[in-house]
Amino acid sequence: MEKKNLDWANLGFGYIQTDKRYVSNFRDGAWDAGTLTTDATVSLTECAGVFHYAQTCFEGLKAYTTSDGHIVTFRPDLNAQRMADTAARLEMPPFPKDRFIEAVQQVVLANEEWVPPFGSGATLYIRPYLFGSSAVIGVKPAEEYQFRILVTPVGPYFKGGARPLKLKVSDFDRAAPHGTGNIKAGLNYAMSLHAIVTAHHEGFDENMYLDATTRTRVEETGGANFLFVTKDNKVVTPKSQTILPSITRRSLMTVAKDYLGLEVEEREVYASELADFAECGLCGTAAVISPVGLVNDHGKEIRFPSGMEKMGPVTQQLYDTLTGIQMGRLKAPEGWIKVIK
Ligand SMILES: *Cc1c(COP(=O)(O)O)cnc(C)c1O
Repeated sequence: MEKKNLDWANLGFGYIQTDKRYVSNFRDGAWDAGTLTTDATVSLTECAGVFHYAQTCFEGLKAYTTSDGHIVTFRPDLNAQRMADTAARLEMPPFPKDRFIEAVQQVVLANEEWVPPFGSGATLYIRPYLFGSSAVIGVKPAEEYQFRILVTPVGPYFKGGARPLKLKVSDFDRAAPHGTGNIKAGLNYAMSLHAIVTAHHEGFDENMYLDATTRTRVEETGGANFLFVTKDNKVVTPKSQTILPSITRRSLMTVAKDYLGLEVEEREVYASELADFAECGLCGTAAVISPVGLVNDHGKEIRFPSGMEKMGPVTQQLYDTLTGIQMGRLKAPEGWIKVIK
């Protein structure tokens, strides 16, 4: 197997069309056998449920080449479960979890030439997605669905290393109480785009969303959960029913406790206590952890002591340990690494 001739070390975080993708259709109440295809386009009726009523959801995970040359994925069972939870909330038929994991394996193997080599800093991003494909005009769930997985090689999410980010406390809300904040629905992203473009225009990298009811508690950004480190090295993450349960964040909390021996706490975090923390980071599959340097709360600037040059020391340890587990340098907890080849 020859790897593709790409400049692996300089890949951006963008879409590069690869050779094969996985497709399965749901018709007459059942998922078909599913197949790999070279066709990178999707052809649908103009009236498909996804187009008008946004019946669509997605997942994101990565395949890595480990130090000993294996290709692995990280906790794909949690992505399978989360997509099933999301589907249920959107009245979509869940794609069976064992088949999700099997399909991830198939599509990664079929694109082995696109899996970046160990040490390049690049990974293969895996994007499963599910959408209503049959015609719907009255407001109701579609009757037919398509589940697909595409893969694309990506470079580090933040080029040139993890420069600490500047955040603003957003005046927009990300999620309503009892809404869809805790599922990975496309609709959550559609309505976040105006907020992020606005933040970018104002010179910020990301939004910090507060809870929609009281606007006092920290929720998350548009696509990453928060981790905070207290001045006495406790790792704190916001507890809320309206944030997306990040697999990276859940894994980092385990790493903090079991690998680094730190105290961890999932609790309500108030915007008013931001100035008390020593470090702040954003966690998600794409970047693992991105350090946050400052948060602007309506003109009041909170600067974390870790500064604007590099990650804070605890954030760095968390990052090194989790990526060490993912890349095979450190022993993983039981069941975290799924070997594909
Ligand atoms: C996907 C996502 C995350 C990160 O989740 P991971 O499982 O760690 O990739 C965080 N917040 C939101 C809103 C997301 O959609």
